[in-house]
Amino acid sequence: MEERITVKKSGFSVPKHPTVPFIEGDGIGREVTEAAKLVVDRAIEKAYGDRSIEWLEVYAGEKAKEHVGEYLPKQTIDSFEKYRVGFKGPLTTPVGGGFRSINVAIRQKLDLYCVMRPVKYVKGVPSPMKEDVLDVIIFREAIEDVYAGIEYEAGTQEAGKVISFLNKSMKAGVRDPSGIGIKPISRFGSERLMKMAIKYALENKRKSITIMHKGNIMKFTEGAFREWCYNAAKPFGKNVVLESELKGDPKGKLVIKDRIADSMFQQLLLRPEEYDIIVCTNLNGDFLSEAASAQVGGVGIAPSGNVGDWKAVFEPTHGSAPKYAGQDKVNPGSAILSTAMMLDYIGWKDAARLIENAMGKAIRNKRVTYDLERMMNGAKLLKCSEFAKEVAKNM
Ligand code: NAP
Repeated sequence: MEERITVKKSGFSVPKHPTVPFIEGDGIGREVTEAAKLVVDRAIEKAYGDRSIEWLEVYAGEKAKEHVGEYLPKQTIDSFEKYRVGFKGPLTTPVGGGFRSINVAIRQKLDLYCVMRPVKYVKGVPSPMKEDVLDVIIFREAIEDVYAGIEYEAGTQEAGKVISFLNKSMKAGVRDPSGIGIKPISRFGSERLMKMAIKYALENKRKSITIMHKGNIMKFTEGAFREWCYNAAKPFGKNVVLESELKGDPKGKLVIKDRIADSMFQQLLLRPEEYDIIVCTNLNGDFLSEAASAQVGGVGIAPSGNVGDWKAVFEPTHGSAPKYAGQDKVNPGSAILSTAMMLDYIGWKDAARLIENAMGKAIRNKRVTYDLERMMNGAKLLKCSEFAKEVAKNM
């Protein structure tokens, strides 16, 4: 009989054999998803013996177009709503498919308003840093900002109307023709993101939250984001302390601070140990996540989760890399660590730790896929499926 994850007053109620929907993904998606499923199944068996995941395939991307005639069928969204927690492989952005990006559409339709990106150095991974101590979690707003899709092409009637309104009513002086993009940042969206980050930080005993923004220039969007985030911290009272009011040791309290976006990039390179959780708007978060991943050795192993209120879809951070599709070659590490995040999210933490430790061991033993092998001396080159088996064997 089908078993479902449900929400009770105290949190998730997770049955022993929950149904978890997954999208295989385009290009290298099939390979990395198969690899991740193999590893997660093994970890759950090893950690608990009497638990397992009932995987349910749902379609999106090229496979959905082929089977159902559209790139993102409603049944797929309904399944993620129904089962609450799922996994997705990378999807190719269709050219002329009516989508800016299927990924953005999934986040918007499911109201998964936070992209959570842990970026932590895994010992043994070749990194460009002399000494790598980076261990941050980026909470990136995922619905608003210039990603909201409110954009008008230069020379169109729509762009003309907006420009004329701005110039006539606001004396804005926008040149015509110009391309127009709108950057909505709401109080609601900013506050709920910050609340999610604070709750996570307190539950997981993290030390600080840094609000990253470009409020010195974009005062009423990025600047307002900063203010609203600080506001959202107020109800947490004695559990938090503002950096500006801190005298000496925070005594176990969560420190809340803010940094201007450009300086944030410098700080992560120069003083990484001073940063922990970073809360940011959509575009800033997109850039920072990639830069931070490069700092610990690249996107091949960086995981990610699209998280909303009591629902989430976990996915690797890389794309569908079509040129490598079907070659059983790429690194499934990002997909594997994303499933570990998924297990953490549903409270199956022992299995999550098994995965992280086993993957760390494979890397330290220099038994890796091509992307890491080319940067390591004396490493053994493994295929995608071989790497997954290696991780499973290490548990
Ligand atoms: P990509 O698929 O991430 O690939 C770019 C490069 O990153 C690859 O050529 C490879 O570099 C490296 N790479 C990616 N995945 C890897 C892995 N698992 N192991 C090792 N190396 C890996 O980016 P793209 O070529 O720009 O995008 C391809 C398609 O994916 C596009 O349609 C894009 O829109 C889509 N996309 C989807 C998502 C998503 O579904 N979340 C995210 C990003 C992009 P080397 O060749 O140098 O080894």
